[in-house]
Amino acid sequence: MQGSFPEVWAELMAAESVVLTTHINPDGDALGSMLALYLALQNQGKKVRMWLDGDLPEMYAFLPARIDISHPPLTVSSADLMVVLDAGDAERTGISFSKFQGKVMNIDHHLSNSGFADVILVDETVAATGILVLRLLEIAEVLITPAIATCLFTAVATDCGFFRYANTDEATFEAAARLVRYGAEPHKISEAIQKMPLTKIVALSRVLASLELFGQGKVAAIMVPDDIPATAVEDTEGFIDYPRNIAGVEVAILFKPAGGPGQVKLSMRSRNLNVSVLAQSFGGGGHARAAGCTLDGTMDEVKNRAIPQVIRAIREAGL
Ligand code: AMP
Ligand code: MN
Ligand code: MN
Repeated sequence: MQGSFPEVWAELMAAESVVLTTHINPDGDALGSMLALYLALQNQGKKVRMWLDGDLPEMYAFLPARIDISHPPLTVSSADLMVVLDAGDAERTGISFSKFQGKVMNIDHHLSNSGFADVILVDETVAATGILVLRLLEIAEVLITPAIATCLFTAVATDCGFFRYANTDEATFEAAARLVRYGAEPHKISEAIQKMPLTKIVALSRVLASLELFGQGKVAAIMVPDDIPATAVEDTEGFIDYPRNIAGVEVAILFKPAGGPGQVKLSMRSRNLNVSVLAQSFGGGGHARAAGCTLDGTMDEVKNRAIPQVIRAIREAGL
């Protein structure tokens, strides 16, 4: 059921115990939305927990309340309500829902959303899940503290490339303006996110050295080599912006070793092409201009399979 904001809030208030979760390899929107809702529910006196499959990326260590995030237990059965934020399908959380007895709520903005939850607050027209959480808290008339505003500003700003991507619209700026009014400090958030360890710059230089162009320069691919340290493989946030910014490039792809052996994760960014459709055809998903998937095979096998399909999609779209 697609719920209205008051209905969704009423569901949250009716639950005795709530678990919040988000997608694996979480980004700023995933973490910011989850932490903001966590802080708001805690302020309402709710029994609330946060589960994250995997570790919190170091670049988001500045976010308030992040130390309260725990790993999901092996058997997921307790809690009246599970809220899945910023994920378009249940598998993206890495949690097995098969034994979960309670209701599942989904707050999300992915074009590829599968409608898997019992209570749905999905709007693919907003730039970030954080905007939906902000509206929810405003409609519920709960106090939005500077800590909540910091989480939500991080959510909104990171998902629209700090107000530069095609999903940046009037509502995005309006949400940002309200969050500043509630106490978010954009320059501090931007500084915290941009700061990186030296190892990341060293990794970036190696990844950029792998740059290749295909399809008359319309496809740019970069690759994270297998022998790079695990922490550097995890934190490649922002790397794809370099191939994406090359003049004439329609689709940029980052290939990197995924969790399991013999698996490769693809990140795609486009100027015009709907890469969400392409990612879905590979078993993944995402947004029109930012999508991803994980494929089985070696790096070379996956590249050889994916790149011709991307070139074909660009040609079929007349781009
Ligand atoms: P990324 O390339 O990981 O930054 O992801 C870009 C967008 O695609 C984000 O909105 C992700 O949530 C989504 N996405 C990435 N990988 C997958 C996947 N395997 N399945 C579904 N959506 C994905
Ligand atoms: Mn996300
Ligand atoms: Mn998002």
